[in-house]
Amino acid sequence: MEVEKEIKKMTLGHEIGAGARCLKCKDKCEGFELHFWRKICRNCKCGLEDHDVQMDSVENKKVGKLFEDTKYTSVIHKLKTEGVPTPKGEVAVTTAAVAPVTPAKKSVAVTYEWAPPVANPSLAVRYIELLPQEKRPVAGTEGAAYRKKQLAKQLPEHDQDPSKCHELSPGEVKQMEQYVKKCKEEALGVGDLTLPEQMKPLPPGSAYPAAAGSGDGGRGTAAAAGALGSPHVSSPQGGLLKAQTYSCHHCQLAMKQGDPAVYAERAGYDKLWHPACFVCCTCTELLVDMIYFWKKGQLYCGRHYGDSEKPRCGGCDELIFSNEYTQAEGQNWHLKHFCCFDCDCVLAGETYVMEKDKPICKPCYMKSHAAHCSTCGAAVEPEAQRVTYGDHSWHAEPTCFRCAGCSKCLIGQRFMAVQAKLFCSVECRKKTST
Ligand SMILES: [Zn+2]
Ligand SMILES: [Zn+2]
Ligand SMILES: [Zn+2]
Ligand SMILES: [Zn+2]
Ligand SMILES: [Zn+2]
Ligand SMILES: [Zn+2]
Ligand SMILES: [Zn+2]
Ligand SMILES: [Zn+2]
Repeated sequence: MEVEKEIKKMTLGHEIGAGARCLKCKDKCEGFELHFWRKICRNCKCGLEDHDVQMDSVENKKVGKLFEDTKYTSVIHKLKTEGVPTPKGEVAVTTAAVAPVTPAKKSVAVTYEWAPPVANPSLAVRYIELLPQEKRPVAGTEGAAYRKKQLAKQLPEHDQDPSKCHELSPGEVKQMEQYVKKCKEEALGVGDLTLPEQMKPLPPGSAYPAAAGSGDGGRGTAAAAGALGSPHVSSPQGGLLKAQTYSCHHCQLAMKQGDPAVYAERAGYDKLWHPACFVCCTCTELLVDMIYFWKKGQLYCGRHYGDSEKPRCGGCDELIFSNEYTQAEGQNWHLKHFCCFDCDCVLAGETYVMEKDKPICKPCYMKSHAAHCSTCGAAVEPEAQRVTYGDHSWHAEPTCFRCAGCSKCLIGQRFMAVQAKLFCSVECRKKTST
């Protein structure tokens, strides 16, 4: 078939996800085809993550790349070779009986698409149970889809890999490599699990972790008073230390003994988080796979750490490493990427219209986005005066915004609208409807 051949030719070189069905647009998209520099589908303008792509290999490669040349390589390597140390497919979850005839309890095997790489599987399972249900990475559920989406959103490949960026100059590549090195050395980490009661006591004289860092110290220490069974913990030196109770670094509520807590090496061993509280300070989303970036006392996801360091282009979604860029509509843009979202023509010095936060050139606006005047039927130019009432628009001119009965100009006058028709009075309305 001629058409099929053509499609194959066009998608060559953009193999990832090519031809995948869009889950949002369904049949309106002919299949995923990567735009030549935007990180979206050329056909429907949705992201790769909105298309039905088997992402596993893409994700593994991406996470592997992210941790390349870091001390976390072994963690990730272990993850990939041994698989997630959870009883994959063997975890029995008890649910309530569906009908009186069935046994009182029914076991259902669940598969986790990801679980914390810890030695103790029950800790990992408990961790997942402490996440909101719609965010648990259980295969085939809303939670697994949420995780995939967050992987794409929080860890853009083009934030870490110059080869995923569009036509960088040698200078930009160099800048980017320095940036990636710095963020791996200074910020990137993977959260780990512990039990609050297993935290090493702090050296004598150091602040109470429950009170430290909490703006509301009273609450933290009040929780500390009631929560601990044994009042004293022996220090390794043999001396006695006052028992420590930890409060969550995010919500400030007490950490419960026996429940897994997340800690982050970069943040220091005196800080713990509830599993559901290990979130990005900007988007407040759960840090996907516990991958975090630590900066000035706060946790970031990859995307928002990048945003805190560099401007991001509103066109290609890449961080900008060039000294020359433009600001428009509250966003930053590579000079060559401030383009019409529909036809990709460069908009510098041209008239454009913002439609749903995307710049559109005037010809595309007139063709596909402009409101049409209910009287004369023509598209209303973006700079023209326009009256909008309900779903209808008119040129704000005496020839268009006028009474359908007596043709009187209605600009600045009282009027009534019946569907697309305007009237100056009940009389004129009666006159035209009969
Ligand atoms: Zn789509
Ligand atoms: Zn598409
Ligand atoms: Zn918390
Ligand atoms: Zn974020
Ligand atoms: Zn750009
Ligand atoms: Zn255009
Ligand atoms: Zn008109
Ligand atoms: Zn009239």
